[in-house]
This record gives sequence, C-alpha cells and structure tokens, in this order.
Amino acid sequence: MKENTMYDIAIIGGGLAGLSLAILLGKQGWRVACIDRDDIQKQTGASYDIRTTAISYGSRNVLRHAGIWQDMEERAQPIKDILILDEDSPIDLEFKTTDIEAEAFGWIVDNRDLRETLIRHVQGHENITHLTGESATAFDHSDANTVTVTLANKETLSAKLIVGADGRNSFTREFMQIGTWEHDYNQNAIVCLINHEKPHHGVALEHFRSQGPFAVLPFTDDADGNHQSAVVWSVERADSEKWLNCSDDVFNAALQTRCGTRFGNITSIGSRAAWPLTLKKAYSYIGNRMCLVAEAAHGIHPIAGQGLNMSLRDIAALTENLKDTKDPGDASILKAYQANRRGDNFGMAIATDGLNGLFGSDISPIRAMRRFGLHAVSKLPFAKKFFMKQAMGAGGHLPDLVREFG
Ligand SMILES: Cc1cc2nc3c(=O)[nH]c(=O)nc-3n(C[C@H](O)[C@H](O)[C@H](O)COP(=O)(O)OP(=O)(O)OC[C@H]3O[C@@H](n4cnc5c(N)ncnc54)[C@H](O)[C@@H]3O)c2cc1C
Repeated sequence: MKENTMYDIAIIGGGLAGLSLAILLGKQGWRVACIDRDDIQKQTGASYDIRTTAISYGSRNVLRHAGIWQDMEERAQPIKDILILDEDSPIDLEFKTTDIEAEAFGWIVDNRDLRETLIRHVQGHENITHLTGESATAFDHSDANTVTVTLANKETLSAKLIVGADGRNSFTREFMQIGTWEHDYNQNAIVCLINHEKPHHGVALEHFRSQGPFAVLPFTDDADGNHQSAVVWSVERADSEKWLNCSDDVFNAALQTRCGTRFGNITSIGSRAAWPLTLKKAYSYIGNRMCLVAEAAHGIHPIAGQGLNMSLRDIAALTENLKDTKDPGDASILKAYQANRRGDNFGMAIATDGLNGLFGSDISPIRAMRRFGLHAVSKLPFAKKFFMKQAMGAGGHLPDLVREFG
C-alpha cells in the first residue's frame, strides 16, 4: 500500500462540477486531489454523456476564470433568443438579446467537449492530482486538522477540506448524515441531436406541454454545414423505453410533429439517451472539514437549463471564500460558503419545480392563469428584464467570479 499523501483539498467526484472546482482551486495555489470512480476511458467515451449544456452568461465568466472557455468558445453556439410556447396556445413569450443589448443569453456546449477540455486542464495543472477509476469508500476524522479518505483500492489520502461533488446520490453527503428533500417527477428526459433543414438563428425553443416540456436548443452546424440542434424532451417515465427503442422513422415523425414546420425536415442523429428527472436538495451543505457542492447539494429539473449553472455559482462562491485563508477546512469559511449559496439554490429549486407543475397542468383555471402570466410578462418590460437576467445567470447576489471577468 502507498504512503498516505497529504493535500489541502480533496474533491470527491470529478464530473463537470468537480473538475471545474479543481481547476479554480489549483489556480488559487491549493494542492488538490480530484477523485472519480469512473476511469478516463469511460468518462471520455462517446456514450458516457451525449447531452449538451446551456452555459449562462455568468457561468461563462466562471469558465473564463478557469481558463477553460478560451479553449471552447469557437465551438459554443450563442443563444440569441429564447422562445416560450404553451401547449397549443397562440400566446408566446420571446426574450431577445437585442432587448438588453447583450451578446447572448448563454451558449450551448457539448458535454463531451466540455468534459474533455476540463480533464485536459486538470491533468496539465501542477497543483492537481487526478485520480480516476477509484471511489471514495470511507472518511476518517481521527486527526482534528485533516480528514483521511479511503479509496476502494484501500489506499488513503488526507486533506484539510473534503468537497463532495459526487452527484445526486452523493456518498459524501450520506457519510455526513445530511438528509434531502426529494421529489420524483416521474419523467425521463430523452436527449438527442437533430439535423434540420432550416437554420435555427440561435433561438432556444421551450415548448411547455402537459406531458412535459420539449426543448430544442441551437447547436453549431456540423463540418458539412448541416444545421443542428439538441433536443431535451421530457416524457412520462413509463413511455421512456418506447421512445428510446422505437425505429428512427417513428422517432423522427414524433419529433417532427412536436417541432412543426419551424425547422423544416428533421432527422435525429447519433444515439438517444434518457435521464430520470428528480428534485433533490440537501438540508445542509457543510460538516466537520467537509462541504457539498453542485448536484451533491442540489439536483433540479432541467426545465430551465440551470443545474450546472447553479453548481458553477457554488464553485465560484467556495473559491472566493477560500481566498486568503490558511486553513481551507475552517468552520467559519464553510459557514460563509453555505450562507452564500443556500438562498439562490433554494429559489431555483422552487422556481423550476413550480414551472414544471404550472406548465404540466391540464386543469382549465391553471391553464388560464399561466396564459395570463405569459401575456403579462410579454407586455411588462421590467418583468421581461427580470426573467432575462435570471436566464443569463446574472440576477440576485452573485459571486465576483460570476459577475465579472478581469
Ligand atoms: C437532461 C438534462 C439536461 C441538462 N441541461 C442542463 C443545461 O442546459 N444547463 C445546466 O446548467 N445544467 C443542465 N443539466 C444539469 C447538469 O447536467 C448537471 O448539473 C451536471 O452534469 C451534474 O454535474 P455534477 O458534477 O454535479 O454531478 P455528476 O455529473 O453526477 O458527477 C458526479 C461524479 O462523481 C463521481 N462519483 C460518484 N460517487 C463517487 C465516489 N464515491 N467516489 C468518487 N467519485 C464518485 C461520478 O463518477 C461522477 O463523475 C441538465 C441535466 C439533465 C439531466
């Protein structure tokens, strides 16, 4: 067995959030270990994560600070407009970047591209050790100034702070005995890429339907100039297998019906995958020399494309709280981090949960109410501006790394 290695900070879970945090902390001068149970080959495989992510304007700033965005921006598709449709109602709501003189609400990136770029930066950083293909299986607090992590291969390492970035079913959270508020939407999100005849003009379409929201997100043209978009289609869980396994003809016809004529002829390309949709919110983010970030702390419905954006705000806040400190596990720093992030994350969890309930309802008074709401927002410039700022990740109290780049 190897000798126990000492780090300042050990991050359990090297998904998109854990990797981003490792880079920001490594740049701040901390000695960081980033541990993930999946090996590199698996993580960078074509079928590991076929999703795309809407990176908000604010999250772009965080990724710029990390030095990641500069490597990705030419492949990122700007979101110029957001178009919201309600079932078959003639009332729509359109947010345009020209209304607020911004370059984009956000950008759509390929998760595989983002993960590979993050991994390259993590592995190229002298302060970061990337341990993959190894799970954290136990934590030990017998030394007051460090926590010792045991890996599945029985090797150990110690750190002054442990950050749980190990996803919705976080082992770190379980060890910390932190409970969760949970809601199962009984929906799966079917995701795939499509080719389409007409250009998307950078419009992100969110069509609320009673069976679940259907989103078409603009994506960069392929090398042959074919127009592409990413589909996130929420279906009842019982129907998920049917849509995953049906023939291309049946699947394309279903997509075409839902997209109408807006994009011309549509063909799905590559594979399809399904993600179970749940809400999970940790009651606390902190413990003795331990804290939670990202989906280990909060997992939400992707209805507004905000899950990773919230996580990048956690990461920005934690990094800022750790600036100019000697002991990263200091309880007062962890308390400040939690105070910084809980309100924003709670608000977004409630908002996405409410949106899914409101727009998923077939009950006439609720339908009338939401149509009135859409109409009202479309006619009230201040309300429109408020929602546009939220979509850009630029509303409310923000960590500096989100607000600015300099
Ligand atoms: C369909 C869909 C669409 C979405 N679209 C958007 C969007 O447009 N915009 C947006 O902001 N967000 C979006 N999200 C949310 C976003 O994808 C997630 O928030 C993000 O991928 C989760 O990142 P994470 O790193 O927190 O968790 P995970 O990706 O779950 O990573 C956790 C990591 O921890 C590792 N791990 C687990 N246990 C251990 C252990 N014991 N030891 C070591 N490692 C461990 C796992 O291997 C994994 O790599 C979407 C989500 C879904 C489902």
